[in-house]
Amino acid sequence: MSNAKRLSTPVPPGGTIGILGGGQLGRMLSLAAAQIGLKTHVFSDEKDAPAFQVSAAQTYASYRNADALKNFARACDAVTCEFENVPADTAALLSELVPVSPNAHALATAQERFDEKTFVSRLGLSTPPFLAVNSGEEARTAFAKLGGNGAVLKTRRLGYDGKGQAIVASADEAAEAFERFQGAPLLIESFVDFAFEASVVAARGMDGAFAAYDPPENDHREHILRRSTVPSRLTAFQVEKAGEVARAIAEALDYVGILCVEMFVTGDGSLLVNEIAPRVHNSGHWTIDACVVSQFEQHMRAVAGWPLGPTERHSNAVMENIIGEEAGDWQGLIARGGSLHLYGKSEIRPGRKMGHITWLKPKDGGH
Ligand code: AMP
Repeated sequence: MSNAKRLSTPVPPGGTIGILGGGQLGRMLSLAAAQIGLKTHVFSDEKDAPAFQVSAAQTYASYRNADALKNFARACDAVTCEFENVPADTAALLSELVPVSPNAHALATAQERFDEKTFVSRLGLSTPPFLAVNSGEEARTAFAKLGGNGAVLKTRRLGYDGKGQAIVASADEAAEAFERFQGAPLLIESFVDFAFEASVVAARGMDGAFAAYDPPENDHREHILRRSTVPSRLTAFQVEKAGEVARAIAEALDYVGILCVEMFVTGDGSLLVNEIAPRVHNSGHWTIDACVVSQFEQHMRAVAGWPLGPTERHSNAVMENIIGEEAGDWQGLIARGGSLHLYGKSEIRPGRKMGHITWLKPKDGGH
């Protein structure tokens, strides 16, 4: 990280922020950037990336194409990403040519579930009990140690929306599940019988300023986020605690931009860190409609070296994802009221996030 480029002065309006990745997150980042006079250059390996439709410049190339990456770096004043699995070499190459936020170390930490959980627990924060698993035998022993309430096996890399996961109820099942993952390095963690799930979406600026949005309560269906609701059932004390968790993580990573910390809230009120997303996050989409400055604008401000904006929520909000086939009935979706966001994806696929709707209600004095 020593020869990583840093911004010496903020990127002025008219400047260009590069975005690695062209999905809906890149699209909403581009829209927010345009609102504050910044241009975006989207780099994606997908030909009809949704963010291409709303950005000032586009590169369609592999994330490993060094020439394309060099040209991209030359065309941008600063670069960010909208997905965490940016190959380490890609982040390293770009970091030498242009300021990249979040930094390569933060990306690497969040890419590997075992490293991520180790990092979080070394900060003194709580996670579900976890162990690394490299063989069927290790899966058995680990289950015996932490599987009292069942356990979850997860691939250490490239898992999202529950992909690369298996819930197991016995040491035998743990060993069998290990074989199914065909030798991929795994992590096993205790199954948490949580009361509900919540997340903190927070920002850290280049000047070290920190600001967190109200933590939403998140409902998942088939491991995919279905709904985020603010205010959540968290108490004022837990809300503060959740903010402190995000701040500790952001500071330890020297993080710049939006990050999301997903948590399990247990019956006794503990907050257990499940995952860090080093990017804008689905559970923060409600901020577009319910906050003065959305997570997307906030991220662009941070990456451009601008001061952070206010994170206050002016309304209560419920955000619901539009998944797969649900997008087919677009007339029905419009009729549901609320603020409709469609991501411009040409092909509907099962489980694919196609859009979301946010409903607002006057703030009722909740936190
Ligand atoms: P992840 O891919 O780790 O974010 O997991 C996706 C979803 O699976 C989470 O949001 C939870 O609903 C569920 N899940 C993951 N890990 C656990 C666990 N240790 N105990 C209970 N549920 C889990």
